[in-house]
Amino acid sequence: MPALRSLPEGVRLLWAVSASGSYPVHVGEGLLGSGFWPLPGRRFVITDSEVSAYHRVSGATAELRIPAGEEHKTLASVEQLLRGLAAAGMDHDDHVAAVGGGVVGDVAGFCAAVYQRGVRVVQVPTTLVAQVDSAYGGKTGVDLPEGKNYAGAYHQPSAVLVDPATMATLPQPELAAGWAEVIKTALIAGGPLWERVRAGAVLDRDLVLACARTKLAVVASDERDSGRRQTLNLGHTVGHAIETATGYRRYRHGEAVGLGMLAALTLSGQSELRREVAELLAARGLPVVLDGAVDEEAVLAAVQRDKKRRGGRVGFVLVEGPGALRTGAPVAESDIRAALSSLR
Ligand code: NAD
Repeated sequence: MPALRSLPEGVRLLWAVSASGSYPVHVGEGLLGSGFWPLPGRRFVITDSEVSAYHRVSGATAELRIPAGEEHKTLASVEQLLRGLAAAGMDHDDHVAAVGGGVVGDVAGFCAAVYQRGVRVVQVPTTLVAQVDSAYGGKTGVDLPEGKNYAGAYHQPSAVLVDPATMATLPQPELAAGWAEVIKTALIAGGPLWERVRAGAVLDRDLVLACARTKLAVVASDERDSGRRQTLNLGHTVGHAIETATGYRRYRHGEAVGLGMLAALTLSGQSELRREVAELLAARGLPVVLDGAVDEEAVLAAVQRDKKRRGGRVGFVLVEGPGALRTGAPVAESDIRAALSSLR
């Protein structure tokens, strides 16, 4: 069994609270290469073909890979991984280490949720999207052609290991995509985080920590998405629909969320804030208009199939101001059409 080492200097520790118990979130530069590991037991790494070229977890019993990209966030990948874990001899005392971006985190987390009815998982996020958002909160799953994240489970991590230095190898467009989630998180938080982001924040450990704190606080108050957690879906109803309607290939998740946020701000009647958010997105290199080739009717149909629909109605997250969001707002189809047109 690999030895546990003490925490290296400069690492910050947050505690995430969940119904199944609390778990540590370690955030620090150089953490992944330090030899520190938060759990005892054998670790079975799940990663993707890109990440494994740059980042490794030492002392792993096995490493399983899926091809990189959202189009591999599928049940087929899950089956391949579950069979790989079984072939490698994983049992209940062992745990999964999910090393990668949000795709790996969601797929590996789902594998951990269902392998032998549930084993522990350590999330090791390596993209900005994953470090500020997807690694925390226990939502796991895969896409179906019918809809984004249509099959999944809640499965909280046993620990999260965040090493901002891993982002040094991240391609620029992926970094840009992560800024959409940073801007979203800042809009949800309001206050000092929003002020910092609107003033052109620098990406460092403290920004990652501030975003992680916001997400953890929201999830702690509503783990199962019945109320406040829905604020985290700001921009996601239209964003997910754009991803689904374009076969998960045309836009990165963060890019689609940025466009979705602009649509949500149009629906909220917040023209001044929309202008400011569009400027912030554009400054990070993110799209603020929808590709003319995207079929608006297909996006609209995907909005109507959104998995957050209740009783046949899709509830939107609307913005009253930074730090003031409203969830479950019904919106007329004609208004959704107008919000999509505003992206042209
Ligand atoms: P991703 O996981 O596809 O990663 C983007 C690309 O960067 C991939 O090609 C990957 O191989 C590569 N990559 C990752 N880390 C790298 C590194 N350090 N160096 C070089 N290349 C690296 O995409 P993402 O943007 O991280 O995540 C998007 C996914 O996250 C979506 O599927 C979305 O639904 C999900 N998500 C989940 C939650 C949640 O709460 N579970 C929240 C937000 C987003």
